[in-house]
Amino acid sequence: MKLNVNDCRQMVCFIADKVIENKSLLTEMDSAIGDGDHGIGMSGGMAKVKSQIDQLDTDNAYQIFKISGNVMLMSMGGASGILFGSMFMAGAKGAAKELGTVDLAEMFAAGLAAVKTRGKASVGDKTMVDALEPAVTAMKDYSGASMPEMMKNARDAAYKGMESTKSMVAKFGRAKTLMERAVGHQDAGATSVWIIFSAMYEWACGNSKFHSS
Ligand code: ADP
Ligand code: MG
Repeated sequence: MKLNVNDCRQMVCFIADKVIENKSLLTEMDSAIGDGDHGIGMSGGMAKVKSQIDQLDTDNAYQIFKISGNVMLMSMGGASGILFGSMFMAGAKGAAKELGTVDLAEMFAAGLAAVKTRGKASVGDKTMVDALEPAVTAMKDYSGASMPEMMKNARDAAYKGMESTKSMVAKFGRAKTLMERAVGHQDAGATSVWIIFSAMYEWACGNSKFHSS
């Protein structure tokens, strides 16, 4: 079973709702080792994404992700506007009525590549890349056709990556100046990535369309 335009729209709106629900958690995390604006930025951006894609008239499933990323890029300030915007839009260059597991994996792989090119961070630097790279690897390694199964693997990998940021010293972003004082704190951007992949899995599980696949 593949994701058509409406599935993509519903899934991204579900992601947006989950990020908005976690606004205070993200604020708390960014307050501990950053400047505290990550929850406000992400939830504000996601609210705009919802209002934009709600009215979007398209038969190209990639367009949902492209517009979403563009809205984030244009409306959110800080490092995360560019980085999360790129994560959504960099791989959304094709044209297709439906997206399968391989399409989704390729799209997020291109998103990750753009995040790394723009932000210059690698795994181990205490950023969103620590959750995104393992999630993308899990998607690329998945060879089946079940959306929920692939998304579960991605969510689990993102969770482990997010957890791993606790013990890290930051090499990028505002937490860099704290040096070892950032150790013990989880990265806010990695947490947003985990929320996004958890939401995708939860959405797929709740969609009867995928239960037989
Ligand atoms: P800002 O740092 O401008 O206040 P946010 O608070 O919205 O932006 O986002 C902070 C998050 O952005 C960090 O937790 C980290 O995950 C991510 N981040 C910051 N700099 C980079 C970078 N160079 N590469 C990848 N991710 C980064
Ligand atoms: Mg911040």
